[in-house]
Amino acid sequence: MRLVFLGPPGAGKGTHAQVLSKDLGVLHISTGDMLRDSVKAGTPLGLEAKKNMDDGKLVPDKVVIGLVAERLERPDAHMGFILDGFPRTPEQAKALDEELKMLQMPLDMALDFETSLPMIIRRLSGRRLCPKCNKNYHVHNYPPKKEGMCDVCGSTLVQRPDDRVEAIENRLKIYKEVTEPLIQYYKTSGRLVQLDGDIDVAPLNIILMNLFREKGLCRK
Ligand code: AMP
Repeated sequence: MRLVFLGPPGAGKGTHAQVLSKDLGVLHISTGDMLRDSVKAGTPLGLEAKKNMDDGKLVPDKVVIGLVAERLERPDAHMGFILDGFPRTPEQAKALDEELKMLQMPLDMALDFETSLPMIIRRLSGRRLCPKCNKNYHVHNYPPKKEGMCDVCGSTLVQRPDDRVEAIENRLKIYKEVTEPLIQYYKTSGRLVQLDGDIDVAPLNIILMNLFREKGLCRK
């Protein structure tokens, strides 16, 4: 199963990818997580990306395209993947198609999580992240077992710098201008499926699993 998740920040892409990748045994490839790891490790790439990320701006295409290509070329990508947060520009979408053609691993579907503005704001303002293992939580919708602490590693959860109001405004503007046109790109090539991103995680997960069965992508 090879999927791309599209949708604005706060659409729940990361949460669904986290749950589905475990249920289906496929990789969860999040460019946001990869970039945050590089920032944490203080690599030259991370240092270059940090300012853009904190301001809610996009990291240059060549940086993210290189990161994703390198990840997809590793042997475990053959078991399938969910790309979460990539592609975000037309250049990235074209580069992804070329890379997957070269690897003979065509994309099965691009899922677009259509989400309303009030829901986006509610989700982003309550979002918390484990800085150590990158697990996402939400103070109301998906709380950790012990308040403020990661279920997996016990680290103190944090709010992402780009979930500040000014950064959210930037991210939504960029999404509208640069990323949203990708919906048409995948529609034109017959690979788009649109879903109601306002629905909660558990019911939407059932809808997704039914969809995958219907398309013959999963036997579970
Ligand atoms: P995310 O966790 O997907 O919301 O990504 C967090 C931040 O990482 C974004 O606001 C961008 O600054 C950067 N980023 C993640 N994915 C991409 C991408 N495909 N292209 C450019 N920048 C990205």
